Amino acid sequence: MSSVKEYFSGFGKGLKSLVTGMSVTGKELVTPKVTEQYPENRSTLKIADRFRAELTLKYDAEGRHKCIACGICQMNCPNGTIQLTTKMVDLPDGKKKRKLDKYMYDLGSCTFCMLCVETCPQDALEFSNDFEQAVFTRDKLVKQLNYRPEVADAPAPAPKPAMDPEQLAKIKAEALAKAAKIKAEKEAAAKAAAAGADNASGNDTENK
Ligand code: SF4
Ligand code: SF4
Repeated sequence: MSSVKEYFSGFGKGLKSLVTGMSVTGKELVTPKVTEQYPENRSTLKIADRFRAELTLKYDAEGRHKCIACGICQMNCPNGTIQLTTKMVDLPDGKKKRKLDKYMYDLGSCTFCMLCVETCPQDALEFSNDFEQAVFTRDKLVKQLNYRPEVADAPAPAPKPAMDPEQLAKIKAEALAKAAKIKAEKEAAAKAAAAGADNASGNDTENK
């Protein structure tokens, strides 16, 4: 008798387990898919903008970057991931200027901490979300970030025109005249106040 009871008890548990499993499967059949069919969906794959895949220099529409080769990112990088070399160039006005020669970045040792990006005073760096970075050898992970041909610096803004000397002299004369007028008014007011005080003391003496 007990074996028949055990048989039906086991049968009931098995049936309950089957129904539970089938209900989970049925629910998943009607919920939207969350799995990605990579690489088949490469063209439509959406990677979050904030995903940090690779350090890059920001370039403007003309192909210029804003790095001034100050070395702050290199100093702040905890892993020695950034190696800068600089060069001195002659400017049209005869002065010399230090410029970026090579900006080398080793993706293989980067921990994506963003210290370089956060501390750059020129806002010259950012992380791309280009996640396909697989290579066969580690040396391929070392990249030159200033890879584009160098574009001439943007022309310096035109210097402010010097003020006409006559206009300058006129402004100075007006300012001096204004100051002298204010001084004279103050002196007159002080004299009037002193005279008023003398009169008041004279009246007091007469009344006594
Ligand atoms: S990327 Fe920024 S912090 Fe680094 S050297 Fe260039 S300007 Fe300086
Ligand atoms: S993200 Fe961090 S580890 Fe990577 S280069 Fe910048 S400072 Fe170095």
